[in-house]
Amino acid sequence: MQSKTKAQNIDYSRVYSPSKLNLFGQCPKAYHFSYLDPVYRRMKYKLQKMPEFIWKFHTLGKAVHNAITFFYYLKPEERTKKNLPVQLKKTWVSEAMPNKKMPLGEWGGFKSLEEEREAYREALKMLKNFYQLAEIEPEIKYLPTKDFANSIEDYKDLITPLSEDFSISGKFDLVIRSSPDALQVIDFKTSKSEEADEFQLEFYKALAEERFEERVEKASLYFLRTANQKDFAFKDVSTAVIKDEIMSRINRILSEREFEPKPSKLCKFCLFQTFCPAKEKVKEMVETTKGEDFSDDLPF
Ligand code: SF4
Repeated sequence: MQSKTKAQNIDYSRVYSPSKLNLFGQCPKAYHFSYLDPVYRRMKYKLQKMPEFIWKFHTLGKAVHNAITFFYYLKPEERTKKNLPVQLKKTWVSEAMPNKKMPLGEWGGFKSLEEEREAYREALKMLKNFYQLAEIEPEIKYLPTKDFANSIEDYKDLITPLSEDFSISGKFDLVIRSSPDALQVIDFKTSKSEEADEFQLEFYKALAEERFEERVEKASLYFLRTANQKDFAFKDVSTAVIKDEIMSRINRILSEREFEPKPSKLCKFCLFQTFCPAKEKVKEMVETTKGEDFSDDLPF
């Protein structure tokens, strides 16, 4: 599929995703470190590969999402329950050390072999729940790349104009046809929290409608820990209204001058802790936040 924005001319500073917009709301300083400061922006990629910033829930979440993607690339007759663990073996990898064989140990964020085994068992259970919840042979409109080390290509491909000056993009887990003239966006959740981020869902409705030029009738969250499903039908919100809301969030960022730190439980997972001016408060937040407290969608 051809991107509406020519890949060679991408100015990423003008492209906004839900996680980028949410990060500004969570902590303007972290946003500044991640997207605006040229030194820290470059440093981000090195920091992400350091064992102290590799989180087991992140490894687990990625492995489950990628196993589901691999599963949907199989021929329909091969999409059996037995084939899900086979996919997980291929996707249990360290992003920081892609050639590391299992067990991943610290390169997957695990403190011990037992901890990694426990996480692997959780991943298997989530895949079982996926099989119970999801359509196995849907008409697939969009599936992420199998080459997950290059998922930036998906992001580039989804870049879609929002206005003359700005574009939007993001990451779909799966988009399927739900009726002859409408699509359904599906987001697989591996976190413990079952809170829905409605702005993110509306953003994805707008992105899918603009990108695929088709109506999105619902978005569904599949909570893979509990086999729960929540559907959102967007009855009261049009794509035009969502685009206005995205634009107003972008304008809020563009008019910001201070980019103050806003310590929260996000600090524990922030790559820039040691450079943050709010050191005392950050230390307190880091000490009181448990590793499992955060969602699988880390914004960094
Ligand atoms: S450490 Fe906390 S307060 Fe500081 S930039 Fe990161 S998220 Fe913001």
